[in-house]
Amino acid sequence: MENNSKSRINLKDLSFSELEIFINSLGVEKYRTKQVAEWIFKKGAASFHEMTNLSMDLRVRLESASRIGVPEIKARLISKRGDTVKYLFGLSDGQVAESVFMRHDYGISACVSTQVGCRYACRLCASGLGGLIRDLSPGEIYDQVLGMQQDSGERISRLVIMGSGEPLDNYSATLTFIRNITAPYGLNVGYRHITISTCGLAPGIRKLALEKMPLTLAVSLHAPNDELRNQLVPVNRKYPLRELISACRDYARDTGRRVTFEYALIADVNDTRDHALELCRLLSGMLCHVNLIPVNPVVGKGIEPPSKQQIELFKKILEENMIAATVRRAFGADINAACGQLRQRAMGDVGREK
Ligand code: SF4
Repeated sequence: MENNSKSRINLKDLSFSELEIFINSLGVEKYRTKQVAEWIFKKGAASFHEMTNLSMDLRVRLESASRIGVPEIKARLISKRGDTVKYLFGLSDGQVAESVFMRHDYGISACVSTQVGCRYACRLCASGLGGLIRDLSPGEIYDQVLGMQQDSGERISRLVIMGSGEPLDNYSATLTFIRNITAPYGLNVGYRHITISTCGLAPGIRKLALEKMPLTLAVSLHAPNDELRNQLVPVNRKYPLRELISACRDYARDTGRRVTFEYALIADVNDTRDHALELCRLLSGMLCHVNLIPVNPVVGKGIEPPSKQQIELFKKILEENMIAATVRRAFGADINAACGQLRQRAMGDVGREK
């Protein structure tokens, strides 16, 4: 009874209200929607055959008009410390989506992708190297979480939408995914345990603030002035710091949520005392937090992390100016856990790696 027809609608791509309309169009009572939603989003049913509390007639009608996407693990890399697992999920058109599973003292978190590739070409990221290939659908994003949870047998309680792709560039699919994953009929992940990461699409940040969801917004900042940020995060030419920071200030004010700024520290590029002071002026008075991330060295590209003392000095300057800051350890550096790295390696190898 399993349905593999790709042309039929994937029920995991629908929001609850869309699912309700679809179920209704089959001539079925609306109250059945919750049962179907629980089967696909919470129990991870892979076929209509499993939906034993639905009549056989309804299962046949569902199967003739729709399908259920299922996660397909193509590759799995485990870090030496065993706290990080990187997954590659195969998609129906042969593309792959990458995700990371991370074990912390306080529970399990996962990082998911929203696009294959990315159009924004940030300098420190591998995802943008080949440009944007395509958006992921809501179901393809959802199946990364479901797949990691099914594979590990452990509950994922926190999510970062920070893998390949810019979530605000695939806005509607990302929001449908968030609504389904937070719902009681889904995996019931708390909004407050979800971080959505952007390279700085100011209009998208403003739109997100209007959704009134208590999500954490993380912005890849990496530089305290436009000249430097234009080089590291090219989309800054379109949405310069003045516009971006104004959108972030409004987001913090409207949602009451602290904005996280990611700042990759690169020796002799953005790590000086002057850069730290400039950053303090930029973020002054905002409800925010800065994650300082010493970069992984890139051989031959002149990209090196600063010394420990320099990192500590940078952090101290922020704290003296009332800006909360932490130095973040890199997860899974030995398994290419930076976004885009595994997919790039694997695309030449799909079908062989498992
Ligand atoms: S950091 Fe994010 S927005 Fe920038 S290229 Fe990578 S995936 Fe795209």
